[in-house]
Amino acid sequence: MEVYDVIVIGGGPAGVTAAVFARRKLLKTLLISKNVGGQVLLTDNIENYTGYEGRTGTGLADIFERQLQSVSSEVVSDAAMEVVKDGDAFRVKCEEGEYRGRTVIATGGSSAKMLGVPGEERYFGSGVCVCATCDAPMTRNKDVAVIGGGNSAFQSAELLARFAKKVYVVHRRGSFRADAIIVERLRKAPNVEFLLGKTVLEIKGSAKVEVLRVRDSASGGETEIPVQKVFVEIGREVKLDYIKGLVKMNERGQAIVDRLQSTSCKGLFAAGDITDLPYGQAIIASGQGAVAGLAAYDYIMGNACQI
Ligand SMILES: Cc1cc2nc3c(=O)[nH]c(=O)nc-3n(C[C@H](O)[C@H](O)[C@H](O)COP(=O)(O)OP(=O)(O)OC[C@H]3O[C@@H](n4cnc5c(N)ncnc54)[C@H](O)[C@@H]3O)c2cc1C
Repeated sequence: MEVYDVIVIGGGPAGVTAAVFARRKLLKTLLISKNVGGQVLLTDNIENYTGYEGRTGTGLADIFERQLQSVSSEVVSDAAMEVVKDGDAFRVKCEEGEYRGRTVIATGGSSAKMLGVPGEERYFGSGVCVCATCDAPMTRNKDVAVIGGGNSAFQSAELLARFAKKVYVVHRRGSFRADAIIVERLRKAPNVEFLLGKTVLEIKGSAKVEVLRVRDSASGGETEIPVQKVFVEIGREVKLDYIKGLVKMNERGQAIVDRLQSTSCKGLFAAGDITDLPYGQAIIASGQGAVAGLAAYDYIMGNACQI
């Protein structure tokens, strides 16, 4: 079986950048992914990817695709099922094929858990949001709802309260899981209102979101809350099943990496949303991908920083 220097799993910002950096060191590189772009394909509004003025996610993904071609990176449309250590190298078992690499850079990304209520899919991207860091500046003078009761929901609500006119924090249980300190901080914020014991039933609107329909768990009564944006903050699924047995993870199921993007398994690097860096942003994933590509080169060459 052909042996690649680097096998990159994932075609989002982290994976594409890792492959570009590896190829520019003339490493034999394979990128495995069913798409090029990852989560950026899901948004029409990227304003914080430095140097990119195009705004749409698909436009950025087109640039990723061209960049991969310009460095002649091999790309295969497949999905990694399991990575196994094979002597000094790795075997990457995929749905369709199997590949062998001296190093692996895992960048499977993440996806937001969704409510599964009517209207959520229809308004995804036009009122239903999953990333407050990305979309908070677009909520100026708007009424918004944050769904969830954990720290992520509260951190999002606190950020949104800096921009939005009103922020409702909607949670189906009778108490929040978030740390007491942030709950207390938000309790005092003049434009934040807590709605506890409320289950979301539907997100309604015309062209854009206009109303959040909720049911009170105690009374069973239904209420319609007028909002223009709904932030779903009920957790994220981290996509690293294929390396689960090989790497140390934190309590959130993310791969723990050092400053060179190395995991606890030598020769196996990770970058982007699957890692324990708390900021899930495209430019950060790209930056981590760049480090992983360079670190894989140093690992292969036996350079000092990797010894
Ligand atoms: C709606 C939305 C809007 C956003 N807006 C912004 C924004 O404005 N600015 C910003 O900076 N960030 C934004 N983000 C966040 C940003 O898109 C992510 O942080 C970034 O894409 C993470 O990059 P990644 O490469 O780590 O993972 P991803 O982008 O998730 O890419 C992961 C890749 O791995 C592939 N993959 C997964 N599992 C496997 C497998 N088993 N085998 C092979 N391939 C696999 C996927 O198909 C995908 O190609 C937004 C996210 C969403 C969902």
